[in-house]
Amino acid sequence: MALKNEYLSNLLETVKKRNAAEPEFIQAVTEVLESLEPVVEKRPDLVEAGVFERLVEPERQLMFRVPWVDDQGKVQVNRGFRVQFSSAIGPYKGGIRLHPSVYLGIIKFLGFEQVLKNSLTTLPMGGGKGGSDFDPKGKSDGEIMRFCQSFMTELYRHIGADTDVPAGDIGTGAREVGYMYGQYKRLANEFTGILTGKGLTYGGSLVRTEATGYGLCYFTDVMLKANGKSFEGQTVVVSGSGNVSIYAVEKAVEMGAKVVAMSDSNGYIHDPNGIDLACVKQLKEVERRRIKDYVDTHPGATYKEGSTGIWTIPCDIALPCATQNEIDKASAEILVKNGCYCVSEGANMPSTPEAIEVYLANGVLYGPAKAANAGGVATSGLEMSQNSARLSWTFEEVDQKLKNIMHNIFKNCDETAKAYGMEGNYMAGANIAGFLKVAEAMKAQGC
Ligand code: GLU
Repeated sequence: MALKNEYLSNLLETVKKRNAAEPEFIQAVTEVLESLEPVVEKRPDLVEAGVFERLVEPERQLMFRVPWVDDQGKVQVNRGFRVQFSSAIGPYKGGIRLHPSVYLGIIKFLGFEQVLKNSLTTLPMGGGKGGSDFDPKGKSDGEIMRFCQSFMTELYRHIGADTDVPAGDIGTGAREVGYMYGQYKRLANEFTGILTGKGLTYGGSLVRTEATGYGLCYFTDVMLKANGKSFEGQTVVVSGSGNVSIYAVEKAVEMGAKVVAMSDSNGYIHDPNGIDLACVKQLKEVERRRIKDYVDTHPGATYKEGSTGIWTIPCDIALPCATQNEIDKASAEILVKNGCYCVSEGANMPSTPEAIEVYLANGVLYGPAKAANAGGVATSGLEMSQNSARLSWTFEEVDQKLKNIMHNIFKNCDETAKAYGMEGNYMAGANIAGFLKVAEAMKAQGC
């Protein structure tokens, strides 16, 4: 899809020139600007106020050195990032990704997505993202601790409970958040909610661990029901086997689905009897092992190398929960050919633009990441509220709030898509609805 509007296509050219070495960022911006064409026509006041130009330029980008000592006593150096993308509707909020693929472009695309996602949650949170090219795989506990402490030793001066609140993402779980939080306390002498996803004994929220996966299923469930379908009796494929995937599988099964495949970055397992989630949890959450070890105890299951092959397994509903661009055009075509009628995204930007075209051309119900996976950050917002109020809600209370938020996000995407003449296109609905709130705030504040 090419931009027809001249003003937006000129803006996109500028973005491409300014960020030439950052294809993921350009990809995320392109999708959003394409969705915003009807807004430009309806809202000349927003064009006049320059909010589109502001939207695509981060408020602040930090890059820093992270030196740490490995178990051999050798100094290692990684690169740290924090992109404070937009504070239009609240403090910067977004996770920290630790993965060797991380560079500025990845953090910028994630920060950009976070701005619109956080806007959709209905909570007052701006958008940001951080990370490092540090690879947590194969590192000892001590190495992880020393890295996290060094990372926070620089980051702490740039963040604050009311200015920028990081959290987890790929490679950053409860262990890493704990070490970062501990270091922040020592440096800042402040014991408040500077990070979310904290342990339950020191200010974490119930349901935060489950929130992204559960939220994905709550969103997908209302999307399915609005279209006369449900999870009941459906065959589901969930990529990944991290925090998002595990709790997406748990909730999908609770809603009556049969999940037959999961994966990690090396390969995927196919268990036609339905994945034994307790085993995956033990392997991934407790023992930190690879998904291929699943077949040792499940003779009916098969393991294959390569993570994209998972999309060749026939399913009704696909929940990509691994990483960006994990479904390309060819995988999308195979999914559709095999009868998949719903793709709902737990990972950030897991579908390439060509894959999305395949979904839309074939009437696939498509739940875009910034709406479908917003449950994680929404529950982070609930953690911030509990920290500020110095109290903690019960599991049921947080879960009910999460459910309501996900239902409202779907309603907002659905109604906005209709209002802009694109009924059923929840991607357009999410992009426009997320944008409008941020845009009004930027216009009102003049920055
Ligand atoms: N990393 C998650 C996301 O992509 C959660 C961020 C947060 O809780 O701040 O939305």
